[in-house]
Amino acid sequence: MEFPTVAVIGAGAIGVTATTALARRGAEVTLYERGSLAAGSSGRAAGVCYDAFANRIDARIGTRSLERFRDLPDVFTECPYVWLAQSGDEKRISAIRKQSEQMRELGLDVALVDSDDLQDRFPGLVTDDIAVAAIAKGAGYAETESYVEAMAERAAQNGASIRTETFVEISADPLQVISGDGERSFDVVLVAGGAQSKRLLNTADVSIPLKPYRVQALVTEETPSTESVPMCFDATENYYFRPHAGGLLVGDGTERVESDPEHWKHEADEGFVQRTREQIVERVRLDQIDVREAWAGLCTATPDGEPLLGELRSGLFIATGFHGHGFMRSPALGEKIANEILGGDGIQRFDPTRFDGDETFEIVAGMDIE
Ligand SMILES: Cc1cc2nc3c(=O)[nH]c(=O)nc-3n(C[C@H](O)[C@H](O)[C@H](O)COP(=O)(O)OP(=O)(O)OC[C@H]3O[C@@H](n4cnc5c(N)ncnc54)[C@H](O)[C@@H]3O)c2cc1C
Repeated sequence: MEFPTVAVIGAGAIGVTATTALARRGAEVTLYERGSLAAGSSGRAAGVCYDAFANRIDARIGTRSLERFRDLPDVFTECPYVWLAQSGDEKRISAIRKQSEQMRELGLDVALVDSDDLQDRFPGLVTDDIAVAAIAKGAGYAETESYVEAMAERAAQNGASIRTETFVEISADPLQVISGDGERSFDVVLVAGGAQSKRLLNTADVSIPLKPYRVQALVTEETPSTESVPMCFDATENYYFRPHAGGLLVGDGTERVESDPEHWKHEADEGFVQRTREQIVERVRLDQIDVREAWAGLCTATPDGEPLLGELRSGLFIATGFHGHGFMRSPALGEKIANEILGGDGIQRFDPTRFDGDETFEIVAGMDIE
């Protein structure tokens, strides 16, 4: 078999995973990154990873990704994932009940518990106001930058050329990558440019329906409760947290406003820090909590909430639009897109040609339980 020459654009979790998979299978791959490794959203992500999806395809992607993460013990820590609804929030109470039942039918290790059960299992949590919670036991969290670095190292060991600090543009016909060194032709170009993917494709006159939106996170100083709390998503108040270096990493939901991927506010809002502090103090039984660092980053939305993953034009592939779930799915989806580039099947639901590219749509958050 003759292998194609491939350019991958973007050294985030998706780009490095695809590069590694392609290089392992014998393709000649060049990875272009305009900054350093994990300079985009992957380096700002919380690293929460689970397979708790009620849809069969998503559940398989999650399960496969967790298998891959477990092969990286320096990067990944096992930790149950709990998502919960507060008393009175009938819509989310019934959504969590239904989801957990569907997940169990898919063979996932998910338990539905009440407030007392939850308290017994995780004494560090305050559970009085909780009506129902689901626990996905096979979950965990990863250090996101370490994942990208580990995969890039593997890619290089398998012969991939990694060019950081190299901003590129592309041309679709002929298929070329244009950098400061000039133009270079490839059989295949994979755009894994995260929030900048739409702009990048614009340089080749190709349009995709993609909107970047801002999300925020912070890490606290060390707290006594970290030992006895799981990863947790409060669906009623729309925030999540996980253990992090003796403290907690806490994040919010979605700003349903499109951000300019080149000019957006990198710092967290004061309101977010204040609100999060109050929520966490109540949920993990503390008198006060000190914030070590807070930041914002971009996620990407599509019209139907599903990724854009596959071939857009002959030889031109895309992998983006993950609605805040791109890191946890990157091991499976990076491998999947590499396989498709080498002639395998894609995932029909994620086929990027399902859109014309000029759709108008509202941003829908990835974590919302409606
Ligand atoms: C605060 C926060 C918390 C999050 N938490 C989670 C979580 O817990 N779990 C989860 O699954 N997901 C989470 N996410 C979402 C996750 O970060 C993304 O879905 C994922 O990182 C996307 O990876 P990527 O490789 O597609 O994009 P990116 O990591 O953004 O990589 C794209 C890369 O392309 C490069 N690039 C762009 N244009 C060019 C160009 N012209 N030339 C060269 N290089 C270029 C960029 O510099 C960038 O490094 C979170 C995001 C944020 C911001």
